[in-house]
Amino acid sequence: MASVSTDVLLVGSGAMSSTLGSLLKQLDPSLNMMMVEQLDSVAQESTNAWMNAGTGHAAYCELNYTPQQADGSITLDNAYSINEKFKISLQFWSYLVEQEALPAPENFIKPVPHISFVWGDENVEFLRNRYQHLSSSHLFTGMEFSDDPVVLKEWMPLVMNGRDTAQKMAGTRVNHGSDVNFAAVSRGMTRNLQSSDNFKLLLSHSVKKLKQDSCKKWTVTIRDEKTGTVSTIKAGFVFLGAGGAAIKLLQKSKISESKLYGGFPVSGQWLVCNKAEIVKQHKAKVYGKASIGTPPMSIPHLDLRVVDGKEALLFGPFAGFTTRFMKHGSVFDLFSSINFNNIRAMIKVGFDNQDLLRYLISEVLQTRQSRIKSLREYYPEVDINDWFLAGAGQRVQIIKKCPDNVGKLEFGTEVVTAADHSLATLLGASPGASVSVDAMIQVIEKCFAVQLATEQWQQKIKQMIPSYGESLINNKELSQKIHEYTLSTLKLNAL
Ligand SMILES: Cc1cc2nc3c(=O)[nH]c(=O)nc-3n(C[C@H](O)[C@H](O)[C@H](O)COP(=O)(O)OP(=O)(O)OC[C@H]3O[C@@H](n4cnc5c(N)ncnc54)[C@H](O)[C@@H]3O)c2cc1C
Repeated sequence: MASVSTDVLLVGSGAMSSTLGSLLKQLDPSLNMMMVEQLDSVAQESTNAWMNAGTGHAAYCELNYTPQQADGSITLDNAYSINEKFKISLQFWSYLVEQEALPAPENFIKPVPHISFVWGDENVEFLRNRYQHLSSSHLFTGMEFSDDPVVLKEWMPLVMNGRDTAQKMAGTRVNHGSDVNFAAVSRGMTRNLQSSDNFKLLLSHSVKKLKQDSCKKWTVTIRDEKTGTVSTIKAGFVFLGAGGAAIKLLQKSKISESKLYGGFPVSGQWLVCNKAEIVKQHKAKVYGKASIGTPPMSIPHLDLRVVDGKEALLFGPFAGFTTRFMKHGSVFDLFSSINFNNIRAMIKVGFDNQDLLRYLISEVLQTRQSRIKSLREYYPEVDINDWFLAGAGQRVQIIKKCPDNVGKLEFGTEVVTAADHSLATLLGASPGASVSVDAMIQVIEKCFAVQLATEQWQQKIKQMIPSYGESLINNKELSQKIHEYTLSTLKLNAL
């Protein structure tokens, strides 16, 4: 069995691994890195442009980031935090564009207005209230509100044509919202990594086993999917950027942190329309409000997508039940991840989340007609024949063991690191690729803390992410500077 050595092993070639590799290459160009991807090309799982909605999540339109409490107040912390994290991604992408380490921005990011749209008295009041809070913060500069059907029709004709305007309705709009082709970002970053002699990409190779030796080095067993040949890689640091399958690899690493987690997969589907005369009438991402009792990933949205120069409309997502952790995964993924350590937490979560189970069953039972009925709420004059159903990526939600209540289902993401900092992974699904740079900086802060404290790394990280170490939430002047710099570098102020 042949063996090679590397400083850093990146498992998977999606948004997370490619971002971590790019950050590390900038911080220390002398690091040897390898990326191992089981598929025959990069970014083909959740990061693939058609597997996700491509929304640059900045909390401009996603109403679940500003939940309303029982007393009517609105919680804003999550919206501020996600907005700040997305602006960290925008800074890094701007830096890479300037360095020609990413292609011109129009190849991966486009300005697409982000609109929230609601109807009914209570929802309109909620949106007005949300707008008043958010628009008073410099993070949400440029946000507009309207409850005038004429204005709303200007913003989103497809949504307003044929709608009963006697009903109360309202929307907010941010013109510098974005549609991001995360696969193009990952491909660009990986291509740039490949320009270094000390980076090697192994496609069609899957990681099968991980074992740590007494010197804290990892021996990772990989299999060539084309020839069946097995070999090993010795690595000082391993990042498990395996998307939904990260939980299974984390369990294989046998680090004590792996005992705290289980995964619950949810599949997805979209309705898609490619008809040019319809697509040209909708130049926005319109997010609505999820029905009461449904999970955050069920928020309906009607989106303009721009993928490799082609425009299409996408509506959904429609969720479903699956036992696979990835599109290209195995039906046994869920069962093989259940073990002595997490079974109690998994059962408890099953009992505690009857609403989610009911929601998934109802989604699975949806017919084409009932999906079109949901779309009709956002596009009253829809013609069923213009739309087809397409598969989206899988989301694996985290089930976390906690001492007091045995197990809890979480909808966010979590960076998990080994106590000796020789291995890290990212679990969970949302807000996803939009906050990949912040998530991978967390990995660096935890696992490369000594190097990050050096003057050389500090200078470099500030050069790549000028707001690093400062709060965009509290520092208005810096926030405005960064906003203008990223909008102009990434051509997001074109509207
Ligand atoms: C329906 C849906 C909608 C979404 N919408 C958005 C959105 O609008 N905005 C947003 O920011 N995010 C969104 N996301 C989330 C976003 O897509 C993900 O957070 C992001 O793509 C995850 O990147 P990743 O690198 O962790 O995983 P992935 O892109 O899944 O990459 C993991 C890679 O690891 C490889 N791999 C797995 N196991 C192994 C192994 N054993 N050996 C070798 N390779 C392996 C896989 O083949 C894959 O290429 C959405 C996700 C879904 C499912």
